[in-house]
Amino acid sequence: MTDSRSPAVLTQAALDAAAGHAAHYLERVNELPAAARAGIAEMRARLIEPLPETSRPPEEVIDDLARRMAPGLVTTAGPRFFGWVNGGALPAALAADWLTSAWDQNAVMAAGSPAASVIEEAAGAWLLDLLGLPSDASYAFVTGCQGAHVTCLAAARHQLLAREGWDVERDGLFGAPPIRILTSESHHGSVERAARLIGFGQRAIHRLPVDGSGRLAPDYLAGALESAPDTPTIVLLQAADLNIGACDPYESLIPLAQARGAWVHVDGAFGLWAAASPRFRHLVAGIDLADSWATDGHKWLNVPYDCGYAFTRHPEAHRAALSHRAAYITYDGEARDQCDWTPEWSRRARAIPTWAAIASLGREGVAAMIERCCDCAAGLHAGISALPGAEPLWAPTLNQGLVRFPDPRPGATPADHDARTDAVTAAVCASGDALFSATTWRGMRAMRLSCTNWRTGPEDVALSVAAVQQALAEA
Ligand SMILES: *Cc1c(COP(=O)(O)O)cnc(C)c1O
Repeated sequence: MTDSRSPAVLTQAALDAAAGHAAHYLERVNELPAAARAGIAEMRARLIEPLPETSRPPEEVIDDLARRMAPGLVTTAGPRFFGWVNGGALPAALAADWLTSAWDQNAVMAAGSPAASVIEEAAGAWLLDLLGLPSDASYAFVTGCQGAHVTCLAAARHQLLAREGWDVERDGLFGAPPIRILTSESHHGSVERAARLIGFGQRAIHRLPVDGSGRLAPDYLAGALESAPDTPTIVLLQAADLNIGACDPYESLIPLAQARGAWVHVDGAFGLWAAASPRFRHLVAGIDLADSWATDGHKWLNVPYDCGYAFTRHPEAHRAALSHRAAYITYDGEARDQCDWTPEWSRRARAIPTWAAIASLGREGVAAMIERCCDCAAGLHAGISALPGAEPLWAPTLNQGLVRFPDPRPGATPADHDARTDAVTAAVCASGDALFSATTWRGMRAMRLSCTNWRTGPEDVALSVAAVQQALAEA
């Protein structure tokens, strides 16, 4: 570095520049178009160039970065992004995330940072409490729900194979008794990748049909369990599928599966957060009976990317699957070394923004945020459904809903309805006023609406309904 300023001055200059750009961006987040203005080609032109040979002042780099990135940013931080399930970032969580970087702790083990280790204990206990899970469940802070699946399935694999007399940590999976995963046909794609990474392969996943509400029916599950009663089995249930937010009937399915020796894992990427709301908790009644749960902080808790949580009812299996020490060494219980619980070694202290998010909202604030999102989803669905040319497909039970836009021409075919639905969805996104994603549901194209951002309020619902009305007139 040729810059002769002191480290303190250099750092201050860079942080001031970043804080300025961040504040400027977030001040305008209500007005910015929801979709990116620039596509891949323009962003390549703005960003890709030969490796620089010389150094530059850090604040100049930050200014340049902010300028180059701006047109390709999607306004997921803003209040009218209803595509996929993304969430925003709460002020306290965002600021704590900056501090996490400033402190630059390696959250691999307690000796590396007692603060980073113990804040996981604090935030882990808060999460279990908020989500209504057993207070003695094990927990791990991972990159996202996909990482949480890998973590929980590794614990399940350990437990199921140990019961068969197979030491999977020592002997691997070659020659091991095969494990199957029973789940509904609407499971998320991250489950398949987790199954691949964990060595089961996608063929281990058996897709069971769902009922009219998108829920895995007990009869189907019972039949599948009976079909191979001696096969070690993971039953993977859904806490909110991505199209309609369907939650499986846990109170009947979990005891049924466990009575037959299955490990029950829940994909609760966003749906597990229903448990944090007195109004929506009934949707996930009995979910606490499961053996493991995967969820996200970066979605509905509104902490910045990336942050997911894995929980298991079986700390011994969890630790045996992931600990870097031999499983037979007694754990002294003094410190909690994070690398005993996560697939990673060196890692970011992800518990810090989680702690700040929960500390800032409290139990009531988390519930209010969840409920506000659900109310906005209901408002969006009702408002759009009432427009001439729109057809409701699924009214939100939680925070996800579906609508479509049938082709009004006489004799229009299903393909025409699909094309019109895609065209209207694209026109809304192109307007910049709101962003929705398109999906295929029960063989039909649909516009999907998803509310997970703490900033979204009734005025955003009204603006977004107006944007759909406009798109219907123009598309
Ligand atoms: C987003 C999502 C996932 C994957 O979570 P990541 O945090 O992106 O890894 C899994 N399941 C469901 C239902 C999801 O919505």
